[in-house]
Amino acid sequence: MKRPKRVRVGNHDFDYLYGTIEADDRYVYGRMNPRHTQILIDDSNAESQIRDTVLHETLHAIWSDAPHILDSETEEQVVRALTPGLLSVMRENPKLVAYLLEK
Ligand SMILES: [Zn+2]
Repeated sequence: MKRPKRVRVGNHDFDYLYGTIEADDRYVYGRMNPRHTQILIDDSNAESQIRDTVLHETLHAIWSDAPHILDSETEEQVVRALTPGLLSVMRENPKLVAYLLEK
């Protein structure tokens, strides 16, 4: 399946851009820029890691559209805690996902 190019979050369309990320922290696999509504994903990682990063950065985008009730470090911890479990639940429970997406 093709990688997503865009996601609608609240009133904003975020573009997913795939490329190499230069960072001092080797665990930086993506970046979300709310000002430019862009999500940069490091595409030098394995595809399974890229999927995880797409969800991770999308959760940050959702967070950016909500009142900031947590500091950025706590937000990072929450996003890191939720991403693998959320992705796993969606992957292992397609009927649940279909039910949730029904209008
Ligand atoms: Zn993060």
